[in-house]
Amino acid sequence: MSLVRRQFLSRAAVAGSVLAAPMVANAQSARFNWKMTSAYGKGSPFYMDGPGSATDLAKRIREMSDGRLNIQVFGAGELIPAFEGFDAVRAGTVEMNHANAYFWTGKTAAAQYFTAVPFGMNFQGMNGWFYDGGGIDLWNEVYAPFGMVAMPCGNTGVQMTGWFKKEIKTVADLKGLKMRIPGLAGKVYANLGVDVKVLPGGEIFPALERGVIDAAEFVGPFQDRRLGLQKAAKYYYTTGWHEASTVSELLINKAAWDKLPADLKAIVSNASAACNVISEAWCQKANSEAMDDLVKNQGVIARPLPDDVIKALKTETNKVLTEAIKDPLTKKVHDSYFAFKSKYDRWTEVSEEAYHLKVRG
Ligand code: CA
Repeated sequence: MSLVRRQFLSRAAVAGSVLAAPMVANAQSARFNWKMTSAYGKGSPFYMDGPGSATDLAKRIREMSDGRLNIQVFGAGELIPAFEGFDAVRAGTVEMNHANAYFWTGKTAAAQYFTAVPFGMNFQGMNGWFYDGGGIDLWNEVYAPFGMVAMPCGNTGVQMTGWFKKEIKTVADLKGLKMRIPGLAGKVYANLGVDVKVLPGGEIFPALERGVIDAAEFVGPFQDRRLGLQKAAKYYYTTGWHEASTVSELLINKAAWDKLPADLKAIVSNASAACNVISEAWCQKANSEAMDDLVKNQGVIARPLPDDVIKALKTETNKVLTEAIKDPLTKKVHDSYFAFKSKYDRWTEVSEEAYHLKVRG
């Protein structure tokens, strides 16, 4: 390096440090006290409590930022009712909400795709789409008119089809059933004659036990057992056609987000990605144990839905999606999702899926 260049760089460094120092000092000393609400009750495993939960996310952010971003976490009903997170973040009443985007399909239909699409992608495929296939950018585009940004912060992995008081032998058995099921899957069931209800987690057990509903889906063996659903219905239909993986959403008020310095933004994004992985890992362990217990000790009959019922659900899903993409923004998200999925499907057929079906034994 020439002497002139060295002197220039040295002067630039000095000038830079002098100019930048006060700004850096201000940005790094600023403290933020935020509120995060949840659609799930205080103490709910996975969502509110345990590895990768909302509480864990806030703790990681607090530790990584040395307390500069302090997030107070509220379960459903503590500050606002379960499903009012979208409006609260939009209004800036709270800075963050932890829930699932498909609760907001009444606000913007495209939100469905950021949680789970019936017969859609599993955990690995969703992450591929989010982080490397433009999924998160589209999510932010969908929420831009509402002044919010979002990112994945958890995943349950594949959910279970759910609990039914009576055995489902044919498509006709679905007719007239009152079932708790949110999102697009509810529309699919409705096409087959199901009377669809959307209830927060905490209301599912009493409704199922009293016969207010005849069937319910919630999450998977661990969370379902905690609600006691096995005491209200014995048929547990397995592999969830409706939620091949269910993404938790970290929803953030954009004006508040824009006030964070770059390092705190990076901390939030990285803590959220960590919780995305860690929460899913916890589900693998918790569900393996809980499923064994439900079947071996609690008399639960766990089985897949009959093939002809799956086939009918798939046919209705295609009709519901065809209707959904009449909305141009939904179509844009749908096209991106399914373009990614079709490549991912071909890849997983010769990789993960082939391993499970043909190699593992
Ligand atoms: Ca569910």
